[in-house]
Amino acid sequence: MLEIRDLHVNVEGREILQGVSLTVNKGEVHALMGPNGSGKSTLAYTLMGHPKYEVTAGDILFKGQSILDMPPDERSRAGMFLAFQYPVAIPGVSVANFLRTALNARLPKNGDGDGARKGISIPQFRKMLKDKMALLEMDPSFAGRYLNEGFSGGEKKRAEILQLAMLEPEIAILDETDSGLDIDALRIVANGVNTLAGPQMGVLVITHYQRLLNYIKPHFVHVMLNGRIVESGDADLALHLEERGYDWIREKHE
Ligand code: ADP
Ligand code: MG
Repeated sequence: MLEIRDLHVNVEGREILQGVSLTVNKGEVHALMGPNGSGKSTLAYTLMGHPKYEVTAGDILFKGQSILDMPPDERSRAGMFLAFQYPVAIPGVSVANFLRTALNARLPKNGDGDGARKGISIPQFRKMLKDKMALLEMDPSFAGRYLNEGFSGGEKKRAEILQLAMLEPEIAILDETDSGLDIDALRIVANGVNTLAGPQMGVLVITHYQRLLNYIKPHFVHVMLNGRIVESGDADLALHLEERGYDWIREKHE
């Protein structure tokens, strides 16, 4: 479903990704790991179409079509979701309002006349929000708080996972902070992914954190080093990383 083919990416004139290939199908959970600065976030931003990340070679196919020419909003509408590493606060806008706006913004642009872009009805939205929050075992009062304002790391992750649940993407890309990632936040993300992952969704979890596997069970694990995926395997690879760190990868590939 998502197919990355020999992707080369420049950031400010420097080649950061040097030929990344990776396929994520529906129903699969992939973990992308690797030391700081290896290019993991660069891949995440490139997948969502951040203008700063220039694809110089290779391709990204989503459902069989190249998405390189699609702006981020079109990628989202096509069914991709990217959770940001550093979510912004929007004082005055509640989590619920934000989610409704996000859902409506995702509706197809086409069509005109009265039926076009009317969006989800308020009762429909409320029911969906209530159901998803119950599924994720979230306190209903959370939806009334201003988005990310004064949120702890864990609460930011909760907002992110709720957004994922509401948007129901076909592929979810979750990029985790490398520093200051507390166990609480990791657990929230892991529980969310474990709850929401299913035959209809592919997941790419990006993390520096080697103990990820205590909380999440990916089907595939990949290790990035210097802008390339140098190792791929099953969940055992992450266990191996937990025991031995990244040094053996560096010794083998540098
Ligand atoms: P990771 O997420 O694996 O820690 P990144 O993708 O953030 O790695 O970074 C990979 C390399 O690309 C680093 O050397 C970093 O300095 C560089 N880089 C990433 N994003 C930018 C940017 N926006 N501007 C300049 N350099 C960047
Ligand atoms: Mg990163």
